[in-house]
Amino acid sequence: MFEASQPFVFFDYFRIPYAVRPSRQGDSHAGAAAFVCTLTALARPGQAARSLMWVSADARPATWSATGQLGCYRLDNFTFFGHVAPDAAIRAMLPRPERDWRPAESIQAEDGRQVAAIWRDRDGNVFLPFDPGEVMGLFWSEGYRDIGRSAVAAFCRAAALRGYYLARPALPRPVQLRLRRLFTHVQATSAFPGWPVEDSLHDFYGWLFAMIAELADGPVPFLGLWPAGRSWALVLTHDVETAVGYRDMSLLRAPERVGGYRSSWNFVGARYQVDGETVRSLQDDGCEIGVHGLLHDGRDLTGRFLDERLPAMWEHASRWNAVGFRSPATLRDWVLMHRLGFVYDSSYADTDPYEPQPGGCCTFLPYFNRGMVELPITLPQDHTLFTILQHADAELWLRKAEHIRDRGGMVLVLTHPDYARDKRLADGYQKLLDTFADDRTVWHALPREVAAWWRGRAASTIRGTGDGWIIDGPAADAGQVCYAGAGSMAGPRSSPIGLRRAQTTLWLMPRNGPGRTAALTGARPTPVTRRSSKSRLRVRNPVIERIAKPRTWSPLPM
Ligand SMILES: [Zn+2]
Repeated sequence: MFEASQPFVFFDYFRIPYAVRPSRQGDSHAGAAAFVCTLTALARPGQAARSLMWVSADARPATWSATGQLGCYRLDNFTFFGHVAPDAAIRAMLPRPERDWRPAESIQAEDGRQVAAIWRDRDGNVFLPFDPGEVMGLFWSEGYRDIGRSAVAAFCRAAALRGYYLARPALPRPVQLRLRRLFTHVQATSAFPGWPVEDSLHDFYGWLFAMIAELADGPVPFLGLWPAGRSWALVLTHDVETAVGYRDMSLLRAPERVGGYRSSWNFVGARYQVDGETVRSLQDDGCEIGVHGLLHDGRDLTGRFLDERLPAMWEHASRWNAVGFRSPATLRDWVLMHRLGFVYDSSYADTDPYEPQPGGCCTFLPYFNRGMVELPITLPQDHTLFTILQHADAELWLRKAEHIRDRGGMVLVLTHPDYARDKRLADGYQKLLDTFADDRTVWHALPREVAAWWRGRAASTIRGTGDGWIIDGPAADAGQVCYAGAGSMAGPRSSPIGLRRAQTTLWLMPRNGPGRTAALTGARPTPVTRRSSKSRLRVRNPVIERIAKPRTWSPLPM
Protein backbone atom coordinates (compact mmCIF):
# COMPACT_ATOMS: atom_id res chain seq x y z
CA MET A 1 0.00 0.00 0.00
CA PHE A 2 2.87 2.38 0.90
CA GLU A 3 6.56 2.58 0.08
CA ALA A 4 9.01 4.86 1.83
CA SER A 5 12.55 5.88 0.97
CA GLN A 6 13.55 5.25 4.59
CA PRO A 7 11.95 4.19 7.89
CA PHE A 8 9.08 6.48 8.85
CA VAL A 9 8.65 6.94 12.63
CA PHE A 10 4.95 7.76 12.35
CA PHE A 11 4.19 4.56 10.43
CA ASP A 12 6.36 2.47 12.75
CA TYR A 13 4.59 3.88 15.80
CA PHE A 14 1.07 3.19 14.53
CA ARG A 15 2.13 -0.04 12.84
CA ILE A 16 0.89 1.06 9.42
CA PRO A 17 2.05 -1.43 6.79
CA TYR A 18 4.68 -0.14 4.38
CA ALA A 19 7.87 -1.20 2.65
CA VAL A 20 11.19 0.63 2.70
CA ARG A 21 12.70 0.79 -0.80
CA PRO A 22 15.42 3.42 -0.99
CA SER A 23 16.53 3.15 -4.60
CA ARG A 24 13.14 3.03 -6.25
CA GLN A 25 11.97 6.08 -4.35
CA GLY A 26 15.07 7.94 -5.35
CA ASP A 27 14.33 7.25 -9.01
CA SER A 28 10.72 8.26 -8.87
CA HIS A 29 11.55 11.65 -7.44
CA ALA A 30 14.70 12.51 -9.25
CA GLY A 31 15.43 16.11 -8.49
CA ALA A 32 14.43 15.98 -4.84
CA ALA A 33 17.42 16.67 -2.68
CA ALA A 34 19.13 13.67 -1.11
CA PHE A 35 17.86 14.55 2.36
CA VAL A 36 14.24 14.62 1.27
CA CYS A 37 12.31 11.49 2.37
CA THR A 38 9.43 10.20 0.33
CA LEU A 39 6.39 8.11 1.20
CA THR A 40 4.40 6.96 -1.80
CA ALA A 41 0.87 5.59 -1.70
CA LEU A 42 0.87 2.92 -4.38
CA ALA A 43 -1.42 3.82 -7.24
CA ARG A 44 -4.73 2.17 -7.84
CA PRO A 45 -5.44 1.15 -11.45
CA GLY A 46 -5.99 4.19 -13.61
CA GLN A 47 -4.63 6.62 -11.00
CA ALA A 48 -1.28 8.29 -10.52
CA ALA A 49 0.70 7.43 -7.36
CA ARG A 50 0.84 10.27 -4.85
CA SER A 51 3.65 11.04 -2.47
CA LEU A 52 4.28 12.74 0.82
CA MET A 53 7.75 14.28 1.10
CA TRP A 54 9.53 15.78 4.08
CA VAL A 55 12.96 16.99 5.06
CA SER A 56 14.77 14.39 7.14
CA ALA A 57 16.01 15.69 10.47
CA ASP A 58 18.68 12.97 10.54
CA ALA A 59 20.10 13.68 7.10
CA ARG A 60 19.98 17.43 7.41
CA PRO A 61 22.98 18.94 5.65
CA ALA A 62 25.49 21.10 7.45
CA THR A 63 23.98 24.19 5.88
CA TRP A 64 20.60 23.37 7.37
CA SER A 65 20.89 25.92 10.13
CA ALA A 66 20.53 28.58 7.44
CA THR A 67 17.35 27.07 6.04
CA GLY A 68 15.52 25.52 8.96
CA GLN A 69 14.81 27.13 12.29
CA LEU A 70 14.34 24.96 15.37
CA GLY A 71 11.38 26.51 17.15
CA CYS A 72 7.78 26.45 18.29
CA TYR A 73 5.16 26.66 15.52
CA ARG A 74 1.41 26.56 14.94
CA LEU A 75 -0.23 24.53 12.19
CA ASP A 76 -3.93 23.83 11.82
CA ASN A 77 -5.21 23.72 15.43
CA PHE A 78 -2.05 22.50 17.15
CA THR A 79 1.36 23.61 18.37
CA PHE A 80 4.48 21.72 17.36
CA PHE A 81 8.25 21.95 17.70
CA GLY A 82 10.98 21.15 15.22
CA HIS A 83 13.17 22.46 12.43
CA VAL A 84 10.93 24.14 9.87
CA ALA A 85 12.25 25.21 6.49
CA PRO A 86 10.96 28.51 5.13
CA ASP A 87 9.27 28.70 1.73
CA ALA A 88 12.36 29.90 -0.10
CA ALA A 89 14.35 26.86 1.02
CA ILE A 90 11.51 24.49 0.16
CA ARG A 91 11.15 25.91 -3.35
CA ALA A 92 14.68 24.78 -4.08
CA MET A 93 13.89 21.25 -2.88
CA LEU A 94 10.57 20.63 -4.64
CA PRO A 95 10.78 17.86 -7.22
CA ARG A 96 9.54 18.63 -10.73
CA PRO A 97 8.76 22.33 -10.42
CA GLU A 98 6.51 22.10 -13.50
CA ARG A 99 3.92 20.38 -11.30
CA ASP A 100 2.68 23.71 -10.12
CA TRP A 101 3.56 23.47 -6.42
CA ARG A 102 1.75 25.92 -4.13
CA PRO A 103 1.79 26.71 -0.41
CA ALA A 104 -1.46 25.13 0.78
CA GLU A 105 -1.53 25.45 4.59
CA SER A 106 0.36 28.07 6.50
CA ILE A 107 2.69 27.51 9.44
CA GLN A 108 2.96 30.32 11.96
CA ALA A 109 5.71 31.22 14.39
CA GLU A 110 4.88 31.86 18.05
CA ASP A 111 4.24 35.54 17.33
CA GLY A 112 1.64 34.71 14.67
CA ARG A 113 3.81 35.52 11.64
CA GLN A 114 3.41 33.14 8.74
CA VAL A 115 6.88 31.65 8.29
CA ALA A 116 6.44 28.49 6.22
CA ALA A 117 3.85 26.28 4.54
CA ILE A 118 2.69 22.80 3.67
CA TRP A 119 3.16 22.60 -0.09
CA ARG A 120 0.91 20.74 -2.54
CA ASP A 121 1.09 20.22 -6.29
CA ARG A 122 -1.74 19.81 -8.76
CA ASP A 123 -1.54 15.99 -8.62
CA GLY A 124 -2.07 15.84 -4.87
CA ASN A 125 1.56 15.35 -3.79
CA VAL A 126 2.47 17.00 -0.50
CA PHE A 127 5.73 18.43 0.83
CA LEU A 128 6.26 19.03 4.56
CA PRO A 129 8.93 21.56 5.57
CA PHE A 130 9.63 19.56 8.76
CA ASP A 131 10.30 15.98 9.85
CA PRO A 132 7.27 14.33 11.56
CA GLY A 133 9.62 11.96 13.41
CA GLU A 134 11.54 14.85 14.93
CA VAL A 135 8.25 16.50 15.96
CA MET A 136 7.11 13.35 17.77
CA GLY A 137 10.50 12.89 19.46
CA LEU A 138 10.59 16.47 20.77
CA PHE A 139 7.21 15.95 22.47
CA TRP A 140 7.99 12.52 23.91
CA SER A 141 11.39 13.48 25.28
CA GLU A 142 10.23 16.95 26.43
CA GLY A 143 13.04 18.23 24.19
CA TYR A 144 10.76 21.15 23.35
CA ARG A 145 11.41 22.59 26.82
CA ASP A 146 14.86 23.75 25.86
CA ILE A 147 13.88 25.25 22.51
CA GLY A 148 14.25 28.98 22.55
CA ARG A 149 15.98 29.00 25.92
CA SER A 150 19.59 29.98 26.15
CA ALA A 151 22.00 27.39 27.51
CA VAL A 152 22.47 29.60 30.59
CA ALA A 153 18.73 29.72 31.30
CA ALA A 154 18.45 25.95 30.93
CA PHE A 155 21.36 25.49 33.31
CA CYS A 156 19.85 27.87 35.90
CA ARG A 157 16.50 26.07 35.72
CA ALA A 158 18.21 22.73 36.35
CA ALA A 159 20.23 24.22 39.21
CA ALA A 160 17.13 25.77 40.86
CA LEU A 161 15.38 22.42 40.67
CA ARG A 162 18.31 20.64 42.26
CA GLY A 163 18.42 23.28 45.00
CA TYR A 164 14.73 22.90 45.80
CA TYR A 165 15.03 19.15 46.06
CA LEU A 166 18.16 19.10 48.13
CA ALA A 167 16.73 21.67 50.55
CA ARG A 168 13.31 20.04 50.72
CA PRO A 169 13.91 17.31 53.30
CA ALA A 170 15.05 19.98 55.75
CA LEU A 171 11.91 22.10 55.36
CA PRO A 172 8.89 21.55 57.60
CA ARG A 173 5.95 20.24 55.60
CA PRO A 174 3.80 23.42 55.88
CA VAL A 175 6.71 25.43 54.46
CA GLN A 176 7.13 22.94 51.61
CA LEU A 177 3.44 23.24 50.82
CA ARG A 178 3.53 27.00 50.89
CA LEU A 179 6.50 26.97 48.51
CA ARG A 180 4.70 24.58 46.18
CA ARG A 181 1.63 26.82 46.13
CA LEU A 182 3.77 29.85 45.41
CA PHE A 183 5.41 27.95 42.57
CA THR A 184 1.92 27.19 41.28
CA HIS A 185 1.30 30.76 40.21
CA VAL A 186 4.52 30.89 38.26
CA GLN A 187 4.01 27.52 36.66
CA ALA A 188 0.42 28.18 35.66
CA THR A 189 1.58 31.03 33.44
CA SER A 190 3.65 28.65 31.31
CA ALA A 191 2.11 28.71 27.82
CA PHE A 192 2.93 25.16 26.85
CA PRO A 193 1.93 22.49 27.49
CA GLY A 194 -1.67 23.41 28.21
CA TRP A 195 -3.21 22.09 31.41
CA PRO A 196 -5.19 20.01 32.30
CA VAL A 197 -5.24 18.83 28.68
CA GLU A 198 -2.66 19.29 25.95
CA ASP A 199 -3.96 17.84 22.69
CA SER A 200 -1.34 19.13 20.26
CA LEU A 201 0.50 15.86 19.65
CA HIS A 202 -2.72 13.89 19.18
CA ASP A 203 -4.12 16.60 16.90
CA PHE A 204 -0.88 16.35 14.93
CA TYR A 205 -1.37 12.56 14.62
CA GLY A 206 -4.92 13.17 13.40
CA TRP A 207 -3.78 15.79 10.91
CA LEU A 208 -1.12 13.47 9.51
CA PHE A 209 -3.50 10.51 9.34
CA ALA A 210 -6.02 12.65 7.44
CA MET A 211 -3.34 13.67 4.96
CA ILE A 212 -2.18 10.10 4.44
CA ALA A 213 -5.75 8.82 3.99
CA GLU A 214 -6.20 11.49 1.35
CA LEU A 215 -2.96 10.46 -0.35
CA ALA A 216 -4.06 6.83 -0.37
CA ASP A 217 -7.59 7.80 -1.36
CA GLY A 218 -8.99 5.51 1.31
CA PRO A 219 -8.80 4.44 4.95
CA VAL A 220 -5.33 3.73 6.31
CA PRO A 221 -4.99 0.45 8.23
CA PHE A 222 -3.05 0.43 11.48
CA LEU A 223 -2.65 -1.95 14.40
CA GLY A 224 -5.25 -1.08 17.05
CA LEU A 225 -3.92 0.60 20.17
CA TRP A 226 -5.48 -1.78 22.70
CA PRO A 227 -6.04 -5.52 22.83
CA ALA A 228 -9.23 -7.57 22.85
CA GLY A 229 -11.32 -5.00 21.05
CA ARG A 230 -11.04 -2.45 23.84
CA SER A 231 -10.91 1.18 22.81
CA TRP A 232 -9.05 2.75 25.75
CA ALA A 233 -7.13 1.74 28.87
CA LEU A 234 -7.42 2.54 32.57
CA VAL A 235 -4.36 1.94 34.75
CA LEU A 236 -4.26 2.55 38.52
CA THR A 237 -0.93 3.25 40.22
CA HIS A 238 0.09 4.36 43.71
CA ASP A 239 3.31 5.75 45.08
CA VAL A 240 3.82 4.93 48.75
CA GLU A 241 5.83 7.91 49.96
CA THR A 242 6.43 7.15 53.63
CA ALA A 243 5.67 4.71 56.42
CA VAL A 244 2.36 6.58 56.87
CA GLY A 245 1.32 5.68 53.34
CA TYR A 246 2.53 2.12 53.84
CA ARG A 247 0.27 1.88 56.88
CA ASP A 248 -2.71 3.42 55.05
CA MET A 249 -2.60 1.46 51.78
CA SER A 250 -5.96 -0.15 52.52
CA LEU A 251 -7.67 3.26 52.28
CA LEU A 252 -7.17 3.08 48.51
CA ARG A 253 -6.96 -0.68 48.06
CA ALA A 254 -10.30 -1.45 49.78
CA PRO A 255 -12.53 0.46 47.30
CA GLU A 256 -10.53 -1.03 44.41
CA ARG A 257 -11.17 -4.52 45.70
CA VAL A 258 -14.89 -3.85 45.95
CA GLY A 259 -14.95 -2.64 42.33
CA GLY A 260 -12.86 -5.58 41.10
CA TYR A 261 -9.90 -3.35 40.21
CA ARG A 262 -6.21 -4.23 40.32
CA SER A 263 -3.45 -1.66 40.78
CA SER A 264 0.27 -1.10 40.98
CA TRP A 265 2.07 -0.10 44.22
CA ASN A 266 5.43 1.64 43.99
CA PHE A 267 7.59 1.33 47.10
CA VAL A 268 10.62 3.33 48.22
CA GLY A 269 13.06 0.55 49.06
CA ALA A 270 15.12 2.06 51.88
CA ARG A 271 12.81 4.69 53.33
CA TYR A 272 10.54 2.35 55.31
CA GLN A 273 10.31 -1.36 55.95
CA VAL A 274 8.54 -3.29 53.19
CA ASP A 275 7.76 -6.76 54.40
CA GLY A 276 7.48 -9.80 52.19
CA GLU A 277 4.04 -10.68 53.50
CA THR A 278 2.56 -7.34 52.32
CA VAL A 279 4.14 -7.77 48.89
CA ARG A 280 2.84 -11.33 48.58
CA SER A 281 -0.65 -10.42 49.69
CA LEU A 282 -0.88 -7.58 47.16
CA GLN A 283 0.39 -9.87 44.43
CA ASP A 284 -2.03 -12.63 45.44
CA ASP A 285 -4.73 -10.02 45.06
CA GLY A 286 -3.65 -9.48 41.42
CA CYS A 287 -1.68 -6.30 42.09
CA GLU A 288 1.78 -5.30 40.91
CA ILE A 289 4.74 -3.87 42.81
CA GLY A 290 7.06 -1.25 41.33
CA VAL A 291 10.17 0.63 42.43
CA HIS A 292 9.82 4.25 43.56
CA GLY A 293 13.51 5.05 44.03
CA LEU A 294 15.63 4.09 47.00
CA LEU A 295 15.40 6.98 49.48
CA HIS A 296 13.15 9.57 47.78
CA ASP A 297 15.44 12.37 48.92
CA GLY A 298 15.87 14.13 45.58
CA ARG A 299 19.19 12.39 44.93
CA ASP A 300 18.12 8.97 43.65
CA LEU A 301 18.63 9.93 40.03
CA THR A 302 21.50 12.35 40.29
CA GLY A 303 25.15 11.88 39.35
CA ARG A 304 27.16 9.54 41.51
CA PHE A 305 24.17 8.77 43.74
CA LEU A 306 22.48 6.93 40.90
CA ASP A 307 25.48 4.66 40.34
CA GLU A 308 25.65 3.98 44.06
CA ARG A 309 21.95 3.36 44.51
CA LEU A 310 20.95 1.55 41.34
CA PRO A 311 22.20 -1.89 42.45
CA ALA A 312 20.10 -1.61 45.62
CA MET A 313 17.05 -0.58 43.57
CA TRP A 314 17.55 -3.62 41.34
CA GLU A 315 17.83 -5.81 44.41
CA HIS A 316 14.48 -4.56 45.66
CA ALA A 317 13.01 -5.04 42.17
CA SER A 318 14.19 -8.62 42.14
CA ARG A 319 12.81 -9.31 45.63
CA TRP A 320 9.43 -7.77 44.73
CA ASN A 321 9.31 -9.21 41.21
CA ALA A 322 9.05 -5.61 40.00
CA VAL A 323 9.65 -4.59 36.37
CA GLY A 324 8.53 -0.97 36.55
CA PHE A 325 10.01 2.28 37.82
CA ARG A 326 8.44 5.53 39.00
CA SER A 327 10.93 8.27 39.73
CA PRO A 328 10.62 10.04 43.11
CA ALA A 329 8.89 13.40 42.55
CA THR A 330 8.82 12.42 38.84
CA LEU A 331 12.34 13.80 38.35
CA ARG A 332 13.40 12.52 34.97
CA ASP A 333 16.02 12.71 32.29
CA TRP A 334 15.45 11.36 28.78
CA VAL A 335 19.02 10.16 28.37
CA LEU A 336 19.08 8.56 31.80
CA MET A 337 15.75 6.75 32.03
CA HIS A 338 16.48 3.79 29.79
CA ARG A 339 19.76 3.22 31.64
CA LEU A 340 17.78 2.32 34.76
CA GLY A 341 17.22 -1.10 33.24
CA PHE A 342 13.52 -1.51 33.97
CA VAL A 343 10.97 -2.87 31.51
CA TYR A 344 8.95 0.31 31.79
CA ASP A 345 9.15 3.74 33.33
CA SER A 346 6.17 5.81 34.44
CA SER A 347 7.68 9.13 35.45
CA TYR A 348 6.51 11.41 32.63
CA ALA A 349 3.17 13.19 32.88
CA ASP A 350 1.31 14.04 29.69
CA THR A 351 1.12 17.59 31.04
CA ASP A 352 2.00 18.82 34.52
CA PRO A 353 3.07 22.41 35.10
CA TYR A 354 2.80 21.90 38.87
CA GLU A 355 5.53 19.37 39.46
CA PRO A 356 8.93 20.70 40.58
CA GLN A 357 10.18 19.55 37.18
CA PRO A 358 7.29 20.86 35.07
CA GLY A 359 6.56 19.79 31.50
CA GLY A 360 5.01 16.75 29.92
CA CYS A 361 5.31 14.36 27.00
CA CYS A 362 1.91 15.51 25.65
CA THR A 363 0.60 12.04 24.90
CA PHE A 364 -2.07 9.72 26.33
CA LEU A 365 -0.36 6.72 24.75
CA PRO A 366 2.67 4.62 25.67
CA TYR A 367 5.83 5.16 23.65
CA PHE A 368 9.43 4.01 23.63
CA ASN A 369 12.59 5.54 25.02
CA ARG A 370 15.02 3.18 23.30
CA GLY A 371 14.18 -0.25 24.71
CA MET A 372 12.14 1.05 27.64
CA VAL A 373 8.39 1.58 27.44
CA GLU A 374 7.21 4.92 28.81
CA LEU A 375 3.77 4.91 30.42
CA PRO A 376 2.73 8.55 30.91
CA ILE A 377 0.78 9.65 33.98
CA THR A 378 -2.29 11.18 32.36
CA LEU A 379 -4.48 12.49 35.19
CA PRO A 380 -3.35 15.29 37.51
CA GLN A 381 -1.83 13.85 40.69
CA ASP A 382 -4.01 13.68 43.79
CA HIS A 383 -1.66 15.94 45.75
CA THR A 384 -1.71 18.58 42.98
CA LEU A 385 -5.47 18.54 42.60
CA PHE A 386 -6.60 18.49 46.22
CA THR A 387 -3.70 19.85 48.27
CA ILE A 388 -1.99 22.35 45.97
CA LEU A 389 -4.96 23.50 43.87
CA GLN A 390 -7.58 22.86 46.56
CA HIS A 391 -10.21 21.31 44.30
CA ALA A 392 -13.28 20.24 46.26
CA ASP A 393 -14.08 17.14 44.23
CA ALA A 394 -12.93 14.86 41.43
CA GLU A 395 -14.87 16.56 38.64
CA LEU A 396 -11.69 17.43 36.75
CA TRP A 397 -10.45 13.83 36.97
CA LEU A 398 -13.70 12.55 35.50
CA ARG A 399 -13.80 15.13 32.69
CA LYS A 400 -10.24 14.44 31.68
CA ALA A 401 -10.69 10.66 31.89
CA GLU A 402 -13.70 10.98 29.57
CA HIS A 403 -11.66 13.09 27.18
CA ILE A 404 -8.88 10.51 27.05
CA ARG A 405 -11.45 7.73 26.64
CA ASP A 406 -12.96 9.61 23.69
CA ARG A 407 -9.52 9.89 22.09
CA GLY A 408 -8.76 6.21 22.62
CA GLY A 409 -5.89 6.85 25.03
CA MET A 410 -4.66 5.54 28.37
CA VAL A 411 -5.92 7.01 31.63
CA LEU A 412 -3.05 6.36 34.03
CA VAL A 413 -3.87 7.50 37.55
CA LEU A 414 -1.32 8.21 40.28
CA THR A 415 -2.62 8.45 43.85
CA HIS A 416 -0.83 8.26 47.20
CA PRO A 417 -2.15 6.41 50.25
CA ASP A 418 -0.17 8.98 52.28
CA TYR A 419 -2.86 11.59 51.45
CA ALA A 420 -5.86 9.28 51.44
CA ARG A 421 -7.16 10.50 54.82
CA ASP A 422 -8.16 13.64 52.89
CA LYS A 423 -11.86 13.04 52.28
CA ARG A 424 -11.74 14.82 48.92
CA LEU A 425 -9.18 12.29 47.67
CA ALA A 426 -10.92 9.26 49.17
CA ASP A 427 -14.34 10.29 47.81
CA GLY A 428 -12.86 11.40 44.49
CA TYR A 429 -11.05 8.13 43.99
CA GLN A 430 -14.19 6.18 44.81
CA LYS A 431 -16.10 8.26 42.27
CA LEU A 432 -13.49 7.63 39.59
CA LEU A 433 -13.60 3.88 40.20
CA ASP A 434 -17.41 3.83 40.21
CA THR A 435 -17.69 5.84 37.01
CA PHE A 436 -15.81 3.35 34.86
CA ALA A 437 -16.49 0.09 36.70
CA ASP A 438 -19.10 -1.07 34.18
CA ASP A 439 -17.56 0.43 31.06
CA ARG A 440 -17.25 -2.45 28.58
CA THR A 441 -15.00 -0.46 26.24
CA VAL A 442 -12.11 -0.10 28.69
CA TRP A 443 -9.10 -2.32 29.23
CA HIS A 444 -8.41 -2.44 32.99
CA ALA A 445 -4.72 -3.25 33.04
CA LEU A 446 -1.67 -3.24 35.24
CA PRO A 447 1.21 -1.12 33.98
CA ARG A 448 3.33 -4.22 33.35
CA GLU A 449 0.55 -5.62 31.16
CA VAL A 450 0.36 -2.39 29.16
CA ALA A 451 4.15 -2.41 28.71
CA ALA A 452 4.07 -6.04 27.54
CA TRP A 453 1.23 -5.33 25.16
CA TRP A 454 2.97 -2.26 23.75
CA ARG A 455 6.16 -4.20 23.23
CA GLY A 456 4.28 -7.03 21.51
CA ARG A 457 2.39 -4.55 19.37
CA ALA A 458 5.64 -2.91 18.30
CA ALA A 459 6.96 -6.33 17.26
CA SER A 460 3.87 -7.07 15.17
CA THR A 461 3.02 -6.08 11.63
CA ILE A 462 -0.05 -5.87 9.44
CA ARG A 463 0.13 -7.83 6.21
CA GLY A 464 -2.16 -7.58 3.20
CA THR A 465 -3.54 -10.88 1.95
CA GLY A 466 -5.22 -9.55 -1.16
CA ASP A 467 -8.47 -10.09 0.66
CA GLY A 468 -7.88 -7.85 3.64
CA TRP A 469 -5.32 -7.42 6.38
CA ILE A 470 -4.00 -9.84 8.99
CA ILE A 471 -1.70 -9.33 11.97
CA ASP A 472 1.61 -11.18 12.19
CA GLY A 473 3.53 -11.34 15.47
CA PRO A 474 2.84 -11.35 19.22
CA ALA A 475 -0.28 -9.14 18.82
CA ALA A 476 -1.89 -11.54 16.31
CA ASP A 477 -4.34 -13.02 18.80
CA ALA A 478 -5.40 -10.02 20.84
CA GLY A 479 -4.84 -7.18 18.37
CA GLN A 480 -7.16 -5.85 15.73
CA VAL A 481 -6.75 -3.95 12.51
CA CYS A 482 -8.20 -0.44 12.73
CA TYR A 483 -8.64 2.21 10.09
CA ALA A 484 -7.85 5.88 10.11
CA GLY A 485 -9.86 7.98 7.77
CA ALA A 486 -12.74 5.57 7.45
CA GLY A 487 -15.06 8.01 9.20
CA SER A 488 -14.14 10.85 6.93
CA MET A 489 -14.80 8.95 3.76
CA ALA A 490 -18.51 9.21 4.29
CA GLY A 491 -18.27 13.00 4.39
CA PRO A 492 -18.07 15.34 1.41
CA ARG A 493 -14.60 15.22 -0.14
CA SER A 494 -14.77 18.87 -0.93
CA SER A 495 -14.89 19.85 2.72
CA PRO A 496 -11.40 19.65 4.15
CA ILE A 497 -12.49 21.11 7.45
CA GLY A 498 -15.19 18.51 7.91
CA LEU A 499 -12.71 15.87 6.95
CA ARG A 500 -10.16 17.10 9.42
CA ARG A 501 -12.63 17.31 12.28
CA ALA A 502 -13.97 13.87 11.66
CA GLN A 503 -10.46 12.53 11.32
CA THR A 504 -8.95 13.91 14.42
CA THR A 505 -11.77 12.66 16.53
CA LEU A 506 -12.28 9.31 14.93
CA TRP A 507 -8.95 7.98 14.01
CA LEU A 508 -8.15 6.30 17.29
CA MET A 509 -11.40 4.43 17.56
CA PRO A 510 -11.28 0.79 16.51
CA ARG A 511 -13.31 0.46 13.39
CA ASN A 512 -14.23 -2.67 11.67
CA GLY A 513 -13.63 -1.08 8.30
CA PRO A 514 -15.19 -2.09 5.08
CA GLY A 515 -16.48 -5.58 4.55
CA ARG A 516 -14.95 -8.57 6.20
CA THR A 517 -11.72 -7.13 7.47
CA ALA A 518 -12.45 -7.66 11.14
CA ALA A 519 -12.97 -11.35 10.56
CA LEU A 520 -9.65 -11.53 8.78
CA THR A 521 -7.63 -10.13 11.64
CA GLY A 522 -7.62 -13.40 13.49
CA ALA A 523 -8.77 -11.46 16.54
CA ARG A 524 -12.03 -12.00 18.31
CA PRO A 525 -12.77 -8.50 19.45
CA THR A 526 -15.17 -8.06 22.32
CA PRO A 527 -18.17 -6.17 21.04
CA VAL A 528 -17.92 -2.60 22.21
CA THR A 529 -20.67 -0.05 22.45
CA ARG A 530 -19.63 3.03 20.57
CA ARG A 531 -21.40 6.29 20.72
CA SER A 532 -21.92 7.88 17.35
CA SER A 533 -19.15 10.07 16.00
CA LYS A 534 -21.60 12.94 16.03
CA SER A 535 -22.13 12.78 19.76
CA ARG A 536 -18.39 12.59 20.34
CA LEU A 537 -17.81 15.68 18.29
CA ARG A 538 -20.50 17.52 20.11
CA VAL A 539 -19.31 16.49 23.53
CA ARG A 540 -15.58 16.90 23.23
CA ASN A 541 -14.93 20.58 22.91
CA PRO A 542 -17.32 21.91 25.55
CA VAL A 543 -15.78 19.44 27.98
CA ILE A 544 -12.35 20.81 27.37
CA GLU A 545 -13.51 24.38 27.52
CA ARG A 546 -15.06 23.69 30.86
CA ILE A 547 -12.09 22.01 32.43
CA ALA A 548 -9.61 24.41 30.89
CA LYS A 549 -10.93 27.09 33.20
CA PRO A 550 -10.14 25.76 36.64
CA ARG A 551 -11.82 27.65 39.38
CA THR A 552 -8.70 27.72 41.49
CA TRP A 553 -6.69 30.33 39.61
CA SER A 554 -7.66 32.87 42.26
CA PRO A 555 -5.16 33.27 45.10
CA LEU A 556 -4.95 30.12 47.13
CA PRO A 557 -5.45 29.94 50.86
CA MET A 558 -2.09 29.62 52.56
ZN1 LIG B 1 6.92 9.92 45.59
